[in-house]
Amino acid sequence: MSRYWSDLVQRLMPYMPGEQPASAHPIKLNTNENPYPPSPLVLAAIARELGSAGETLRRYPDPLARRLRATVAAYHGLKPEQVFVGNGSDEVLAHTFASLLKHERPLRFPDITYSFYRSYARLYNVRYRAIPLAGDLSIRMDDYLGDVGSVLFANPNAPTGRALPLADIERIVAGNMSSVVAIDEAYVDFGAQSAVPLIDHYPNLVVVQTTSKARSLAGMRVGFAFGHVSLIEALNRVKDSFNSYPLDRLAQVAAQAAYADHHHYRMTCERVIASRERMKRALQSQGFDVVPSTANFLFVRHASHDAAMLVARLKDQSIFVRHFKQPRIDQHLRITIGTEEECDAVVAALRELLA
Ligand SMILES: *Cc1c(COP(=O)(O)O)cnc(C)c1O
Repeated sequence: MSRYWSDLVQRLMPYMPGEQPASAHPIKLNTNENPYPPSPLVLAAIARELGSAGETLRRYPDPLARRLRATVAAYHGLKPEQVFVGNGSDEVLAHTFASLLKHERPLRFPDITYSFYRSYARLYNVRYRAIPLAGDLSIRMDDYLGDVGSVLFANPNAPTGRALPLADIERIVAGNMSSVVAIDEAYVDFGAQSAVPLIDHYPNLVVVQTTSKARSLAGMRVGFAFGHVSLIEALNRVKDSFNSYPLDRLAQVAAQAAYADHHHYRMTCERVIASRERMKRALQSQGFDVVPSTANFLFVRHASHDAAMLVARLKDQSIFVRHFKQPRIDQHLRITIGTEEECDAVVAALRELLA
C-alpha cells in the first residue's frame, strides 16, 4: 500500500498464477502446460524470422498479425476479419471484459472457474454474479437462460475439467441474444466440442482460444478470439487504445507454424488424452474421486486424506500440483497431465503417501 497508488490499484484482486518452482528438476504439474515440445516447424519458423543477424528485430511487427490471422481463419473456416489475436488469451479475455461484457446487467460466470475472471471484473469495474455450479461441479445450463445478460464460462471449465455439449452451449448463446456470450476454450482440444462452428449463426458469440495448452506455446503468449466481424472490431478498438503491437515477430511466426502442423498437434493431444485416462484409472483405484475431464488435467479428491497435506507432501518430493484454498474445492487437487513418466511419478508418490 502506498499513498501514490490510484484508487483503482487499491481495489484490484490480482490473479495468483501457479508456482514456478526454483528447484532443479521439478515435476511441474501445476499450471497445465503441455508436457511435449511444440512442432519442429515452430523452431524452424523462429530461426527463419531471426535470420543470421536478427536483422528483422529492428522493425516493429505487423500490428494486425495478418498472416497469422489468415492462417488461423482458414484453419477454422472463418474470414480473417472474424479473428482477433492477443498476447495470450489472458489479454484477449481482458479486452473482452473491457469491450463486450460490461453492461447494465451483471455478467454471469460460474462460482468455480478460472479465477482471472474476477480479476478482470475488478480491473474494468464490471459487475458480476457468480452462479454456483451443481453439486457434481457441472454448469447448470438453466441458470444461464432467459436473456439474463452477458455470460462467460470456460468449456471445458477450469479447474473442474467438465465440459458442456455443444447443444447446451448453443441453447445458452441462443437464449441470450441481447448480450454477448463468451466461451473460453483454452482446453477444448483435449476432447470437448468447440463452439466455433456456431459463429456464423450467432452475432453475440465470442470464442476465445490459446496456443498455450494444446500447441505447447505457453512461453510465446498467443491467444485468439473468434466472432462476428463487429465483435472483433470492438476488440481491435480496445487493443489500439492499449498496445498496437501485442504480438512480437517471433510469436507471430511461431503460432502460424504451429497451425501448419496438424499432425503434430493431433499426436500431442492424443498422447495427453491417453495419459489422462490412464492416470484417471490409477487414481480411482487408490480411492480418489475423479471429476470427468475433457481437459489436460484431472480434478481429484480423496475422502480420507486432506488435500493441503497431500500437496505439501508432494512438494517435499519436488512434485508440484495445484490446490485452491476456496470454499467447496479446498479438498481437491488439480493435477496437470504430464509425460507418461511424470504421471507415473505422481501416481507412485500418492500411493506411498496414502499407505
Ligand atoms: C491457461 C488458461 C488461459 C490463458 O491462457 P494464455 O493464452 O496462456 O493467456 C485462459 N483461460 C483458461 C481457463 C486457462 O486455463
